[in-house]
Amino acid sequence: MTEPTSKRGLQTRIVHPEVSLTPGFASFSTPVERASTVVFPDLATMRELDWRNDAQWRYGLHATPTSLALAQRLAALEGGKHALLQPSGLGAISNVYFGIVKAGDDVLIPDNVYSPNREHGDWLARDFGITARYYDPLIGAGIADLIRPNTRLIWIEAPGSVTMEVPDVPAIVAAARARNVVTAIDNTYSAGLAFRPFEHGVDISVQALTKYQSGGSDVLMGATITVDDELHLKLKRARMRMGTGVSVDDCSLVLRSLPSMKARFEAHDRSALALAQWLKTRPEIAAVLHPAFQDCPGHESFKRDFSGAGGLFSVVFDARYSATQVDAFVEALELFAIGWSWGGAHSLAMPYDIASMRTASAWPHRGTLVRFYVGLEEEADLRADIERAMATALV
Ligand SMILES: *Cc1c(COP(=O)(O)O)cnc(C)c1O
Repeated sequence: MTEPTSKRGLQTRIVHPEVSLTPGFASFSTPVERASTVVFPDLATMRELDWRNDAQWRYGLHATPTSLALAQRLAALEGGKHALLQPSGLGAISNVYFGIVKAGDDVLIPDNVYSPNREHGDWLARDFGITARYYDPLIGAGIADLIRPNTRLIWIEAPGSVTMEVPDVPAIVAAARARNVVTAIDNTYSAGLAFRPFEHGVDISVQALTKYQSGGSDVLMGATITVDDELHLKLKRARMRMGTGVSVDDCSLVLRSLPSMKARFEAHDRSALALAQWLKTRPEIAAVLHPAFQDCPGHESFKRDFSGAGGLFSVVFDARYSATQVDAFVEALELFAIGWSWGGAHSLAMPYDIASMRTASAWPHRGTLVRFYVGLEEEADLRADIERAMATALV
């Protein structure tokens, strides 16, 4: 210290406190390092900064050591090289569109995609001069016939997080690579644990960290993960132009949850599978859609490419029950809350009208679909809750 700080005025000392770091302090947690402005020692340093280098701190919006620590851990977890954080999973989807697609391009989207992605594709098609076309998620190698000279991007979701069809990712990727088309997978379902996209040649993995990575139902965040340097820079440039960044406090919450994610994922998986198996035996249920079951469309791909399933699955109620009755069933549940964002400790249930959500593939079921997310409650209690709600509502 050059001069005793006590000589400075009160306001100056408030702005420049004497910081006393605790010598020898060490902990497992990543420090929360906040910044809007990042301070440079001199102008030459500031002018030499290279935006391509993730660890050259330029501005709090782009990264601080806290957000970079999370990005690097996410990339490592999924077998990627780079990760960019966004304030939501949908923000990460948006980052892919704005980083990859320009006017005149064509995008292929699976018919069972996460609905806001569909909305995004339709919006770009309507207002920004691209074409967005939908394909049957079970198309496999047949996607080659849909690729046009201006096709720039193919979205994949594996499985579709409501209807659970599992696409043949290697076949889609092979067709895309042969024509130089970028592939992006929404890999939120598997959290990057149960499906390893880069081992199958996928270019970009999107994660809604809002789900298992947060695990607390209290953080919104997303990430795009890549192995290719140039692709990463394209997405990074788009992200800078979009002016989006994440709160380091939110990063800190996700960093705190990350070490328990695999154990939680496996617990959700066990409970969900047991519950799904029991629901198969119920006369009220026409079909149970869980990728681990042989009759789930794409089950062979699931068996070949996945190591687990997590807490999501869906059921189709027998067509003798009206949509109103199924709504009453969902509302009669006590342990399953009505809500969108899964991945936390609490179980959820949500009815869907699937036929109204598709344009490129037939939906074979007539009854109403309910998607369950199985939380960390006791499985026996969840089963009893469903049984009781069925007895009350389906009379
Ligand atoms: C939740 C979800 C998203 C979006 O995440 P948000 O953080 O809520 O924007 C994207 N894809 C899938 C499959 C999801 O389940």
